[in-house]
Amino acid sequence: MGTGYLLKQIRQQKIQTSDINCYFCRMQILDGKIVSQTVKNTIKEKTALLKSTGKKTPHLAAVLVGSDGASETYVASKVKNCEEIGFISTLIRLDASIEESLLIETIQKLNADDDVDGILVQLPLPGQISEEKIINLIHPNKDVDGFHPVSVGKMVQGLPTFLPATPYGILMMLEYYQVETKGKHAVVIGRSNIVGRPISILLNRNAYPGNCTVTVCHSHTRNLKDICLQADIIVAALGKPGFLTSDMVKEKAVVIDVGISRVPDATKKSGFTLKGDVDFIHVAPKCSFITPVPGGVGLMTIAALMTNTYNACVLKN
Ligand code: NAD
Repeated sequence: MGTGYLLKQIRQQKIQTSDINCYFCRMQILDGKIVSQTVKNTIKEKTALLKSTGKKTPHLAAVLVGSDGASETYVASKVKNCEEIGFISTLIRLDASIEESLLIETIQKLNADDDVDGILVQLPLPGQISEEKIINLIHPNKDVDGFHPVSVGKMVQGLPTFLPATPYGILMMLEYYQVETKGKHAVVIGRSNIVGRPISILLNRNAYPGNCTVTVCHSHTRNLKDICLQADIIVAALGKPGFLTSDMVKEKAVVIDVGISRVPDATKKSGFTLKGDVDFIHVAPKCSFITPVPGGVGLMTIAALMTNTYNACVLKN
């Protein structure tokens, strides 16, 4: 059975990405379904134990401003995961046109509510509201997204804190599959506060997963292809579907695809397909490990958020 045939089968979704491991013996899928389910099962068991011993049940409050399709989907998934794990969840919906002061008031109430362990404000926020102001307002002890400057400062110093969910989820995945990171050259494409910058800091820290030499690339980086070709590990987090092509990846690289873009697709009921930043079908055969989209980092983000919420509850009591 040739590689071309297999790639066609994958492309036509006749075989699952989780089945690919047995075909390409040198490449392994980092399967977000398996790892996230393992993490969530552990949290579920621990939560049941909290309840059975009369302790407080973790409670996540999610705030959704407006009705952006992708944000609706993300928040619904977070709430559903809370329910599956046995957490309490509260969803607060606010109109897209609200004044900033109303959101400030909402956050202040959630900060003051002793039953709420974690607060999540779904980004992006409408233009009239300062994301920075809102993030800074969330109490650091309830900052389960790990975006508050106190959380970020602690992360940079290597102190215990809530790690931002997507980078934390990537670390969980690398650890689960025992991907070697020490001494490796990691190239991160993207420098956003929620993905690129924090994962670059975490891969660089003196710990496992970590101890990488990290290059952070962005929209003004020159010779990106040459830099990527030097990478043992590539984290693609730029939001450009299929951007990382096979000619940018060296043999046996580890490729982490963070991108999630909705690409119009008339054949789908929803009218779109989710695409990552990596040209998976051509890049995968060169890799030692690679994450698929969907079914990769996105699922890990939720597992990490659930872990942070559980810890927020336990640390408080
Ligand atoms: P962002 O728009 O805030 O940042 C994008 C970054 O990519 C910027 O730093 C920019 O400089 C860089 N960039 C843009 N074009 C580039 C180019 N041609 N070459 C090199 N760098 C370039 O995006 P973000 O919030 O970090 O999200 C990135 C992607 O990850 C998006 O697709 C987003 O939907 C996805 N995402 C996924 C998850 C998840 O759970 N899987 C979580 C957060 C974000």
